[in-house]
Amino acid sequence: MSTNTIAIHLPDGSVREVPSGTTPLDIANSISPRLAAASIAARITPFTATAVQNSASDGQPDSQSEAAMYAAEDVAAPRLADLTAPLTADVKLELVTEKDPDALKVLRHSAAHVLATAVLELFPETKLGHGPATDSGFFYDFYRAQPFTPEDLAAIEAKMAEVVARNEPFCHEFAPRDKALEAFERDGDFMKTHFVTRFTAPGSEVSFYRNGKFVDFCRGPHVPSTGRVKAFKVTSLAGAYWLGDEKNPQLQRIYGTAFFSKKDLDEHFARLEEAARRDHRVLGKQLDLFSIQDLAGAGLIFWHPKGAIIRKVMEDWMRDECLRRGYQLVYTPHVARVNLWQTSGHEGFYAGNMYTPMELDDAMYRIKPMNCPFHILIYKNSPKSYRDLPARYAELGNVYRYERSGTMHGLLRVRGFTQDDAHIFCTPQQIEGEVSACIDFAEAVLKTFGFQEYKVELSTWDPSDRAHYTGSSENWDLAIRSLDNVLKSRSIEYRIIPGEAAFYGPKIDIKLVDVLGRLWQLSTVQFDFNLPARFELEYVGEDGERHQPVMVHRALFGSVERFFGVLIEHYAGAFPLWLAPVQIGLVPISERHAAYAQKVEAALEDAGFRVETDDRNEKMNAKIRDFANQKVPYILVFGDKEEASGSVSVRIRGKGDQGAMPLDAFIAKAKELVATQSIEL
Ligand SMILES: [Zn+2]
Ligand SMILES: [Zn+2]
Repeated sequence: MSTNTIAIHLPDGSVREVPSGTTPLDIANSISPRLAAASIAARITPFTATAVQNSASDGQPDSQSEAAMYAAEDVAAPRLADLTAPLTADVKLELVTEKDPDALKVLRHSAAHVLATAVLELFPETKLGHGPATDSGFFYDFYRAQPFTPEDLAAIEAKMAEVVARNEPFCHEFAPRDKALEAFERDGDFMKTHFVTRFTAPGSEVSFYRNGKFVDFCRGPHVPSTGRVKAFKVTSLAGAYWLGDEKNPQLQRIYGTAFFSKKDLDEHFARLEEAARRDHRVLGKQLDLFSIQDLAGAGLIFWHPKGAIIRKVMEDWMRDECLRRGYQLVYTPHVARVNLWQTSGHEGFYAGNMYTPMELDDAMYRIKPMNCPFHILIYKNSPKSYRDLPARYAELGNVYRYERSGTMHGLLRVRGFTQDDAHIFCTPQQIEGEVSACIDFAEAVLKTFGFQEYKVELSTWDPSDRAHYTGSSENWDLAIRSLDNVLKSRSIEYRIIPGEAAFYGPKIDIKLVDVLGRLWQLSTVQFDFNLPARFELEYVGEDGERHQPVMVHRALFGSVERFFGVLIEHYAGAFPLWLAPVQIGLVPISERHAAYAQKVEAALEDAGFRVETDDRNEKMNAKIRDFANQKVPYILVFGDKEEASGSVSVRIRGKGDQGAMPLDAFIAKAKELVATQSIEL
């Protein structure tokens, strides 16, 4: 190793001159022993391609694909490295502590090594596949003729605790590739042989990590020692064919998760339990809201009467709000000639997401993945002057997009859905005002439907990827700047996501935060100067000249289906009064109260409520329980006493029996809650 001096640039802007071979741990210790103890790994951005010796520790194992684990990565990109990796060139160095989101990935991948260590100690005949971190934990693929039993998994978890208690350092080692391959082949390690053959170059040194007696082919990085994997759990077992081919041996994939503390681990499982309780697919069935039918196909939603009535309320609100905000409602077809999609550019930029064309007698047709070209044709159908702008066309339009089979998920990922879509055609001077109004509208949607918090992203293009975007750099810069201006003028905090724009322009995405703190991408506001050019749209300006308008695409529910799925989970099926499919359940105590039940029902329906009367010859408590299971907001119970006084006994969902109340007073109160779209009962 040379004795050169290298420059280490730290996040605070300071630069340390240190001998080549100094490790991130050395640097951490020189700053403070406390920082050194808290550090998990280092994030290194090289100024040259050889900053870390052998550059073997590239790549955080954050993807499940084997290539992502083993393949070489961009040498100039920031990467995670072991604290003990010698630095041999000038770098930017950031110490990664437990708070850093990447630290969890390093921990979880290290936990996968602990898992493999435990498995080999208990079942030495097992052959190893690979063991990456995932978004929620980690897994390791094993080959063993005998299936692991639940008892085996418990024993493995107990053995993992021993490996952790031994606190074995993770040591990075290297071996000549031929030697490594020879050893793997000799031991029948067919998967490791495959990985080394495929992802290392002949003649190179192969990177290994050792803890105790366990050695694994791996690029790292790892936490300093097994003792750092304190809070972990083996969660499940699944089968998978080696390389996804059913002719290959079947592997056993053991899943687990790991956190930096027992508290985080417990919270994780509590969250999972709560999410399962709120699963919209389960609640959708239980509350009879929607279904997906095998005979019809995956990703296609059937709205049952109770789901459909909620949808009607959502759509009515949306249409009324559009009209109030100066939009005009339109309806457009579901299919169009391929020529239209060629003009719009979808045929070139979006074909992979579209259903295949169908041949009719006069032309090829495609079902629509977006509504935009249709609204453009309406705009283009008559001459426009500046006085007609902005023109805001809104439609709850059904669109169909191809999703790979096996990727559909309830209402959240589907092949057919309804966009609350609008396209605004305006002058370049009007654009910022229009985008700002869209964001205002989006905030109203979130607030009305009960979401308090949201996060905003500005998706921009990737100028080096011209194949995926249409339009000139000047226009893209202008468009991005105007979206940026709007967000700044509204003092909205946002993140910039490069390379995530639509093919025709940049966009603002609004992600709501649900009651479990999960983020959902729903509303989007997009700037487009490209489609107006492709369709040669015009308006006559104040100057009497022809100009090209610009366009805003925006969807606020995003997909009505997806928004509904999120609503179900957010409320765990217990919808606010104004959305609930059955708002009021009526429970006459006995058959002799049937006439009063009819009277109460008629009065409530006259007042505009959705009411259901349970007139079965059942016990009162059974009727109450059934309405409660359907999460009906109000249950009104009545017998002789209530009938005599023209009152009802009121039970509020989640609050229980509130005692008797005059029917008129109840109606007045409930009407007020609906009118104000109250979340509370
Ligand atoms: Zn590893
Ligand atoms: Zn559009």
